[in-house]
Amino acid sequence: MGLHSVFGMLLCTHLANAVPRKAHEVQASGATDARNGCASPHALRRVAALDIGTARVRLPPMAGALAFRCASCGAFNRMTLLVPGREAVCGRCKAALDTSGQPTPILPGQFDAAVANAPVPLLVDFWAPWCGPCRAMAPALEALGRTMAGRIVVGKLNVDDAPEIAGRLRIQGVPTVALFRGGNEVERLVGARGLEELRRFVESATLSVGLA
Ligand SMILES: [Zn+2]
Repeated sequence: MGLHSVFGMLLCTHLANAVPRKAHEVQASGATDARNGCASPHALRRVAALDIGTARVRLPPMAGALAFRCASCGAFNRMTLLVPGREAVCGRCKAALDTSGQPTPILPGQFDAAVANAPVPLLVDFWAPWCGPCRAMAPALEALGRTMAGRIVVGKLNVDDAPEIAGRLRIQGVPTVALFRGGNEVERLVGARGLEELRRFVESATLSVGLA
């Protein structure tokens, strides 16, 4: 059983705490592949970060600085001012820098650096192309990114391309959004949510690390 089907199953097991993570455990549990559960919003609930950092550290205020992630090279660019009508350029690769705040894809090889280096809270959407709720949530996530452009960075990690990362972070279903700050996961939210709930989640999670 590959990761793909494991994720499909996980969506259909109501994201229980005791969800087995290894293929042989999945089979032993008697669970069957039921990716159709992917379309059901009922199993969605909020869970705390598992064993990833739950740091409650006070971080210095951002002093109004904005940060944008370059979609081309993944570098974070800090800016104190956006000049209307002037195109922003990535300081590292010189590509045009998207300052709209819309989510940018995070490639598996970029993930650890993105978490470690993000100068503002990094919200990662762990998603998969076959996941209906992931697609359903995409517009809300994009709206959130645009609303909070520069104050948070929203990235998307395709778990099908990143089984090692999904396993390491114990992503047990998609969509899962996790907020990272200072290299640590602060909090995560499992299941598709609307804009308002995503916004409250981000505000609450950033408050918990003394950012807001
Ligand atoms: Zn760049």
